[in-house]
Amino acid sequence: MVSNTIGEMREWIGMLPSSPFSDGSCYFVPGFGNCSVFETEEGLVIFDLPIRQLAKKTFNEVQNYTEKPVKYFIFSHGHFDHAFGYKFFLEEINKKGWEMPEIITHENCIKRFEKYRMLDKYHDWINKMQFASLRGRTQDAAVSAQQTLRPTIILKGNEDFHKFKLDDILFEIYHNKGETDDSIWLWVPKRKTICAGDLMVSSFPNVGNPYKVQRYPKDWALAMEKMIEKEADYLIPGHGRIIQGKKEVKEALSITAEAMHFVHDEVVKRLNEGKWFEQIFHEMLDIFPVKFKESPHLREMYGCYRFAIHATYRLYHGWYNSGNPTDSFPAKSNKIAREFLKISPEGKYLEHAMNLYNEGKLQLALHILDVIIKGSENKRSEVRLKALNLKFKILKEKTKKESSFIAANIINNAAVQIKEKLKDLEKS
Ligand SMILES: [Zn+2]
Repeated sequence: MVSNTIGEMREWIGMLPSSPFSDGSCYFVPGFGNCSVFETEEGLVIFDLPIRQLAKKTFNEVQNYTEKPVKYFIFSHGHFDHAFGYKFFLEEINKKGWEMPEIITHENCIKRFEKYRMLDKYHDWINKMQFASLRGRTQDAAVSAQQTLRPTIILKGNEDFHKFKLDDILFEIYHNKGETDDSIWLWVPKRKTICAGDLMVSSFPNVGNPYKVQRYPKDWALAMEKMIEKEADYLIPGHGRIIQGKKEVKEALSITAEAMHFVHDEVVKRLNEGKWFEQIFHEMLDIFPVKFKESPHLREMYGCYRFAIHATYRLYHGWYNSGNPTDSFPAKSNKIAREFLKISPEGKYLEHAMNLYNEGKLQLALHILDVIIKGSENKRSEVRLKALNLKFKILKEKTKKESSFIAANIINNAAVQIKEKLKDLEKS
């Protein structure tokens, strides 16, 4: 895996200039996430709005393009980076005395907002970890769902479809599960444009996010296939650049569908062969096709193949995933580590971990270091300090090599915590 360039990351978080598309009839405002504007004689249709911190910037850029009233907001799903940045549009609507626009979502989006309100602090906590490297952009107010717009047109069920016309331009909205169970996407035949929301994210799909609820690889593939039938010229992803040209759009959708079918079907095959998670996971890593690894549409910028294996397994399996009853109701890991330290002193483990590190076996070195770190908890020994320092060094090296934004944040957050722990220990 190769870590992403700064330019690629900037693109992915929406640091791109806004631009018209489809012969100037539509406007693309990149951000975290992207916003698309369809202009008609009767007003605007806006698909998705970014995080609250970018709401003003997006509003200003739309205003520079057109001052027509918004008639419809369509929210691809209820995540904070797609449905929360509406404040300045509402102020404008109130100031001008315009009618409130229709708000289109899927019914599961309403349930999502209720869930976020119930789990407000929890979501704040996990999002701070997931987005740690964007600190400052995602503060409490950004992810809080205490204030959301009330949907007025609500798609229901699994196979729902909604269409409307504005100034004789047809807008078709479809529901397919994928990253979420409330995702909807837009097809505008006259503009040859699909707005995909996070069903397309200029990355390997975010299926199997380690912090978040179940996601749907097979349904994701079906969504891509439904989009292919439209033969669009423009595909607007939830994050990253516009994909333009029939061939390129088809290629992005096809390879994503293929990858989702692949990961789903190969995990299912192995479940049917009576295999446990560890075996499935490592076999899946061995068969990861080169064409997916090398596809520019499946770069592991955000989600990654490794997460997708978890997602598929979790879709069909319970929590007992090792097949070893020792793991069914395990003892505390620090107690286990203490027993290992009774067999052999911590210095021996450190020596072994350093050898593994020097051989480039970073993951194995981490497992051995954890015996010292967990087993000698709260003890301030030279060996423990060295173990913590080596773990910090390994995690930093792993962060640098890691391509997935989420995985890199997981590893780096732990490194930061170790650094803080080391500072405390050095003071004591
Ligand atoms: Zn998003």
